Amino acid sequence: MIIIKKAGDIKNQLVALTKIGISIGFVPTMGALHTGHISLIEAAKNENELVVCSIFINPTQFNDPKDFEIYPVTIEKDIYLLEKAGCSILFLPTVDEMYPDGFKNLSYFKLGFIETILDGKYRPGHFQGVCQVVCRLLEIVLPNKLYLGQKDFQQSMVLSKIATIAYPSIQIGICPTQREPDGLAMSSRNLRLTTEERLLAVNIYLTLKYIQDTIKPGDLTNVKHGAIAALTAKGFKVDYIEICRKNNLEILENWDGNTAIVILIAAFLNSVRLIDNIVV
Ligand code: AMP
Repeated sequence: MIIIKKAGDIKNQLVALTKIGISIGFVPTMGALHTGHISLIEAAKNENELVVCSIFINPTQFNDPKDFEIYPVTIEKDIYLLEKAGCSILFLPTVDEMYPDGFKNLSYFKLGFIETILDGKYRPGHFQGVCQVVCRLLEIVLPNKLYLGQKDFQQSMVLSKIATIAYPSIQIGICPTQREPDGLAMSSRNLRLTTEERLLAVNIYLTLKYIQDTIKPGDLTNVKHGAIAALTAKGFKVDYIEICRKNNLEILENWDGNTAIVILIAAFLNSVRLIDNIVV
């Protein structure tokens, strides 16, 4: 694996490779890599001749500056895992490289309804930052296919929407959520959990499973309120538990029993915010 830090350098190399017909799979990440990220690298490797991974902790997507400061960094281990997984190129830019004009005059993306709900509502500006960084990365890497995780369901939907409009030639692959043996969704943020919090964290998955197993057609108010109360009693501060139409994330108050739905949770365990979802 080669590591490239300059946007101009990686762009020149990749343009030359594309010209001779090499297909590129791209996996953008913020590092602190785990098996979830590696599953995206493997999917990219299976479908492309060359795999590019980026590691960049993007300041513009953190609505809380403290959260940005303490985001986990494990770069030595990340490089080892990427090498082992067969990644071809690691793009490791600095903030200046990604935002050469600073943070003024950043692009604004018209995301509409999807930015007003769930993480869009609870993390104002978050999806603008996600779009800013991923669009800049796509312009540099110009991959054949972009790989995203279902773990960040709303983010995948936002990026699919933007990429389809701005980069229609780039295909998008959404990979299933990788979980710890007890069911907890793998996440870089899990590194920040204490032993006690780690044991409690699985309750997010257990709550999703419980709703999935017991949900019935009809009014969903009691299901949602019951789940929020149960997680709160375990010590979580719940941002949301919502049941949404899978294809557009419209929040449902009633379910007809046929519509494909996704159940989504975001909740804090002390200072660590965890998200997860399950498709029914
Ligand atoms: P992040 O480093 O958190 O920005 O994540 C980089 C990519 O990895 C995103 O597309 C995530 O959705 C994906 N990802 C994160 N966690 C998981 C997981 N547990 N399973 C599958 N994909 C994941």
